[in-house]
Amino acid sequence: METKYALPQSKLFIDGKWVEPRSNKKFNTINPATEEVITQIALAEEADVDHAVQSARKAFEDGAWSKLSATDRGKLLHKIADAILSHVDEFAYLETIDIGKPISESKNIDVPFVAELFHYYAGWANKFHGETIPVRGNYLNYTLREPVGVVGTITPWNFPLLLATWKIAPALAMGNTVVHKPSEQSPLTSLKLAEICEEVGLPEGAFNVVTGSGRITGSAMLAHPGIDKIAFTGGTSTGILVMQEAAKTLKKVTLELGGKSPNIVLEDADFDAAAKGAIAGIFYNKGEVCAAGSRLLIQESAHDAFLEKLLDRAKKLTAGDPLDPKTRFGPLCNADQYEKVLAYIGAGKEEGARVVLGGDRAQVGNGKGYFVQPTIFDDVTNQMRIAREEIFGPVLSAIRFKDLDDLIAQANDTPYGLAAGVWTRDVKKAHYIAKKLKAGTVWINTYNMYDPASPFGGYKQSGFGRELGMHALESYTQVKSIWVDMNL
Ligand code: NAD
Repeated sequence: METKYALPQSKLFIDGKWVEPRSNKKFNTINPATEEVITQIALAEEADVDHAVQSARKAFEDGAWSKLSATDRGKLLHKIADAILSHVDEFAYLETIDIGKPISESKNIDVPFVAELFHYYAGWANKFHGETIPVRGNYLNYTLREPVGVVGTITPWNFPLLLATWKIAPALAMGNTVVHKPSEQSPLTSLKLAEICEEVGLPEGAFNVVTGSGRITGSAMLAHPGIDKIAFTGGTSTGILVMQEAAKTLKKVTLELGGKSPNIVLEDADFDAAAKGAIAGIFYNKGEVCAAGSRLLIQESAHDAFLEKLLDRAKKLTAGDPLDPKTRFGPLCNADQYEKVLAYIGAGKEEGARVVLGGDRAQVGNGKGYFVQPTIFDDVTNQMRIAREEIFGPVLSAIRFKDLDDLIAQANDTPYGLAAGVWTRDVKKAHYIAKKLKAGTVWINTYNMYDPASPFGGYKQSGFGRELGMHALESYTQVKSIWVDMNL
C-alpha cells in the first residue's frame, strides 16, 4: 500500500548490516484498519537466527561494543533516545498502520515513552555496579556486576516498540547484546529502531533484528545454545512453551504474560473518576492491553448508580480510523484477534451475561477492517468464561461483590495476577485491599499508570521477573564474587 512515510527496510538487521534472509522467504504485514498488505517482511529461519546470534556473541566477547565503557554505552543510549524523538511522527505512523493503535496514543504516549526509557536506562549504565563486602577474616571480598551475554527478546503486538524497549534498553545499558524478534503482526517499528541504531553508530552486532513467526523464528531462538537469556512478553500458554524450550539449554528466562485484572469500585468511590478509569482501563488501545481492567468489580450497593455513570461515558466512544487524530478507539490488531473477541462476545451472551453496550462488529468507512464495538456485559459471575479467560479486547465484564471479604475472594479468584485498580475515598480500605490483592501492580484511584522508574510484572500465571525501574537490571546482569587474601 502507499504510505505517508518511507517504510523501513524489509530485511534482517544482523551485524550492523541489512541482509536478506538466507531462504529469501517473506511474509505480509497487514493494516488492520483497511485489511491491505502494507509490505512484505523477511522471514528469519534457523540459519538467520544463528547468524544473528554469532554476530551478537562476537560483539559481546570482543567487538567494539564490548570495549565501550559503561559511560559511553550510556551516551549511545541517550543518542538513540534523541534520534527516536526526532522521528516521532514516523514511528507513530508505522505503529498505527501496523496494529491499528489510534495515532493519538502512538504519537503522544508510546513513542515518547520509548525515548524516555532509553534516556532512563542510559542513566543507569554506569550506576548499577558491584560492592565491597565486610567478610570474616583478612580478606577483601568484592562483587562485579556483569552482563548476562546474548539476550533474545521476543515480544507481542499490542505495544510493539514500547514493550520491546522495556527489554532492549536495560539489556544494552548493562552491556549485553540483543537478538530481537518482534511479533510477526507488528515488525515495522522494530526495523525502524534498527535504522536508528545504525544512524547513531551503535557498534555492529550489539542489536540485531530477526523478523518472523513464533513457530519458526521464535523456536529457533529458544533452541539456540548461544542465547543466554530470553526476555519474553506474550500469552501465558506461549510463556509455558518458552520456559519448556529454554530449559533444554538452561537459558535464563523472564516472562511477562497475560492478565484478567480486577478494577474495583467501592460504594464510597468518586463515581465520575472511577467511570473514567474503568473506561480507560478496558478500552485504551482497544482493550489489547495485558493489564486491562477487564473485570469490573462493583459493590452491590453502588451497582445501579455506577453503571449508569459508566454507560453515559462509554456510549460516547465509537470506533474510527486510527490515523485520524480525533479517534480514540481503533480496529483490533489482526483477523485472528477479531474472530477471537467476537467469539468471546458470543460466549458471554450464551452464558447469560447481559450486553449493556456494544456486543457486535462495528462498521467504519467502507466496512473493511477489524472493528468491534466497545462492549460491556453486566450480570457477569466470576465463573463465566468472559470473567476467567483473557479476551485481550474491548470487552468489560461487570461483576458484583457484597463486602470486603467477598471482594478479595473474587478479585484473587483467577489464575492471573498482573494488575488491579481500586476506587475508594477511604484510605484505610484502599491500602488494605492493595495489600490483599495478588497482583504485581495496584493502582489506587487511577489506572494504567506507568513510569520508566516503577517496576512492572506479574504474580501467579502472569509471569515472573520485573521490567522497568532498577528491578529490571537484576535480570540483565549476574554477580561475580571475588576474594583476595590480604594476610601478610
Ligand atoms: P503470543 O504469545 O502469541 O506471541 C508473543 C510473541 O511470542 C510473538 O513474538 C510470537 O511470535 C512469539 N511466539 C509465539 N509462539 C512462539 C513459540 N512457539 N516459540 C517462540 N516464540 C513464539 O502473544 P501475542 O498474541 O503476540 O500477545 C498477546 C499476549 O501477550 C496476551 O496474552 C497479553 O496479555 C500478553 N502481554 C503481556 C504483557 C505483560 O507485560 N505482561 C504485555 C503485553 C502483552
